[in-house]
Amino acid sequence: MTDERINLVGLSRDALEHQLTAIGEPSFRARQIWHWIYHRGARDFDGMTTLAKPLRSRLAERFTIARPEVSREQISDDGSRKWLLRFEDGSEAETVFIPEDDRGAVCVSSQVGCTLTCRFCHTGTQRLVRNLEAGEIVAQLLTARDSFGEWPTPGGERLLSNIVVMGMGEPLFNYDNVARALRIIMDPEGIAISKRRITLSTSGVVPMIRRVGAELGVKLAISLHAVTDDLRSSLMPINRKYPIAALMQACREYPGADNARRITFEYVMLKGINDSPADARALADLVRGIPAKFNLIPFNVWPGAPYACSPMPVIRRFAAILNDAGFTAPIRVPRGRDIMAACGQLRSASERERLTRLKARLAAGINDDHHPSLPT
Ligand code: SAH
Ligand code: SF4
Repeated sequence: MTDERINLVGLSRDALEHQLTAIGEPSFRARQIWHWIYHRGARDFDGMTTLAKPLRSRLAERFTIARPEVSREQISDDGSRKWLLRFEDGSEAETVFIPEDDRGAVCVSSQVGCTLTCRFCHTGTQRLVRNLEAGEIVAQLLTARDSFGEWPTPGGERLLSNIVVMGMGEPLFNYDNVARALRIIMDPEGIAISKRRITLSTSGVVPMIRRVGAELGVKLAISLHAVTDDLRSSLMPINRKYPIAALMQACREYPGADNARRITFEYVMLKGINDSPADARALADLVRGIPAKFNLIPFNVWPGAPYACSPMPVIRRFAAILNDAGFTAPIRVPRGRDIMAACGQLRSASERERLTRLKARLAAGINDDHHPSLPT
């Protein structure tokens, strides 16, 4: 039997209040329950000890505060953690925790798979794609907090201090759900992570960048990866629709971008493709006038990837040219490589298993799949 109860995780405050007043509760009840879910980390109504017992059972009859099932948790040698979450319809997405000194960031997914097909990205080779609901995005953070036992929301120091929307999927193709989830996460009476600690990464959906700036005000990261339209279009098909000049214009207009809140330009280092000194100089010229910093990402190889990672000396020379031009350009330390948690390596286990089966069938000379194009 399917559970007809409404999951409260992911409802906006207004929607939560609406649900509660509809069953005859006063509107302040929404605030109490919000506090239990997002500040205390309650996982069921039974534990909500400030509510009368009969009310707790009434709530449990109609509502849930269900988390997705954690189908696998992996802990890397470097302290990264990765959770594979299975949602109600059986689809899966991954969430990663990346430690940084004494704190860290939770990298959340916005979609199952991704409709874009950037050539260097493993997620983009996954066929199964759907948007994640707001509740499924928020639940990723709740799961990470469960795993580290960070409840109730600590006031000062906390390990899960930052959020990067850089997991599977293109967040700006699922704007409404991402926006709703981020508003819940930013709410000061709940999870309370401020917009200054949230970074949203996009492949460059230009019209939506404006809305992020106007409506959410979180920090922006742009997956740039190339300095000419020709090369960028061949790496990232979305560039054909929103070419570099339009993207740079949207960055120039991004509100709140100043020296303290610079826009991060992500640049994946692909051997012999985009890593020459001339590329580095052109990159510095391209972002001139934008409060910018760079994030140089050593390419994470996945099985069958069509590129190799630039050698370290080449990446260092690239970084030095950007530094000389006045930009911060750290080289990202690859995290969680041993558990395939690094950038662009995310891809759900069921999808991997499907491919393994398909490859076995192909090897046996059976091909009844309508899309037999394999990434390896
Ligand atoms: N779709 C969004 C956010 C998810 S991808 C975006 O494209 O920005 C997060 C980051 O990982 C992006 O900068 C992406 O370009 C980068 N990335 C993807 N595949 C990678 C790989 N194999 N190695 C290194 N970085 C990769
Ligand atoms: Fe999608 Fe981002 Fe991967 Fe491109 S890099 S396929 S936009 S997840």
